Amino acid sequence: MTAPDRIVICGAGAIGAATAYFLTRRGARPVLVDRARPAAAASGKAAGFLALDWNTGTPLDGLARESFALHRALADELGAERLGHRPMDALMTAAADAGDLERYRRLPNPGWLDGNVVAHEVIGGPATTAQVDPRAFTTTLAEEAVAAGAELVTGVVDGLVLDEASGAVRGVSIDGEVRDADAVVLALGPWTPQAQRWIPLPQVFGTKSASVVLGADAPAQAVFSEYVAGDGRRSTIEIYPRAGGTVYISGHPEHGTLPDDPGEIAPTDAAVGELRRIAGVHSAALGDAELVAATACYRPLTVDGVPLIGPVPGVPGAIIATGHASWGILNSPATGRMVSEMLLDGRSTSLDATPFDPARLPAGRIAG
Ligand SMILES: Cc1cc2nc3c(=O)[nH]c(=O)nc-3n(C[C@H](O)[C@H](O)[C@H](O)COP(=O)(O)OP(=O)(O)OC[C@H]3O[C@@H](n4cnc5c(N)ncnc54)[C@H](O)[C@@H]3O)c2cc1C
Repeated sequence: MTAPDRIVICGAGAIGAATAYFLTRRGARPVLVDRARPAAAASGKAAGFLALDWNTGTPLDGLARESFALHRALADELGAERLGHRPMDALMTAAADAGDLERYRRLPNPGWLDGNVVAHEVIGGPATTAQVDPRAFTTTLAEEAVAAGAELVTGVVDGLVLDEASGAVRGVSIDGEVRDADAVVLALGPWTPQAQRWIPLPQVFGTKSASVVLGADAPAQAVFSEYVAGDGRRSTIEIYPRAGGTVYISGHPEHGTLPDDPGEIAPTDAAVGELRRIAGVHSAALGDAELVAATACYRPLTVDGVPLIGPVPGVPGAIIATGHASWGILNSPATGRMVSEMLLDGRSTSLDATPFDPARLPAGRIAG
């Protein structure tokens, strides 16, 4: 097999940016296209939490372990501060608007958790849990790829040009203008259904969550809190202190149709207010903290919960890489490296790609 010369990567989230990065490490010069900019969607708004072994026993285990190690290697190579990479502890807690929680306590609370919350279990430490700043991580990989010869293009991918006889990829239409291509990588996250207008693909959909970033200092301790509201509703609230005096809080699922433009994705005022209030239930400092950012994003999901990483059946030259759900920041480096190997070596050499083969799921097209 001859490695393709002209590779177009559609979507500059963590998956597209990591693919561009690993391709350029091998001397390829891909085109990376995004309708907005790198990290415009979930890859700029996620928590950025990384875990070595929280996917044990699932098809994602190897991908997660390789990726966790690659995150550390990237931090060594590109600078931990630049990526916002740091090891952290992880703690499970129970919290509630009202009522005595002492029967759930197994550990003393860290000092900053001074609300109606009790520490229950340590679930990660510096060897197994870490974080990156997802926006810094994604934009740095895209910048490094560009510095090594990739071309970053701002534009809407609106079609593929396929060879009439073989069905193979011949070009990518960007804002109506065709770029010749021997290979295309579809890394469109929850916007993958747009590409189902051009070729048959397995179903990918997005689930929305709100998050807030508050200005407060807290130690490097991620908190996963089983929270009971005053009306009895239960949810898991996730609290991630970041370097530089901010704390990211998520855990509020929302509903809403995915707009074409990631800039139009916003949380509801109710979700933002609720997250701030619940933060205050955990910590007085968080309750008083200023709101630095209020965001929302969509996780890309497949029907079986396993990402799609591999060739699109029946469309030579097309590779899909998406559906990473809640672990797309963690799993982006090993995914990008696998896709670069599929393109340059004809198959993934670093990891067994079988669990992620798009051919395992039925594929369909959307009319229009
Ligand atoms: C609240 C929240 C918290 C999360 N926390 C974590 C976490 O702690 N750890 C973790 O590992 N994961 C986390 N995730 C999951 C993670 O954010 C996603 O899995 C990951 O960002 C998906 O990356 P992606 O590159 O596939 O897609 P995206 O980041 O969605 O990127 C897709 C890109 O495609 C572009 N695009 C779309 N259509 C077109 C088009 N027609 N033409 C050109 N460009 C187009 C968009 O502009 C976008 O930039 C979280 C997600 C959410 C919502």
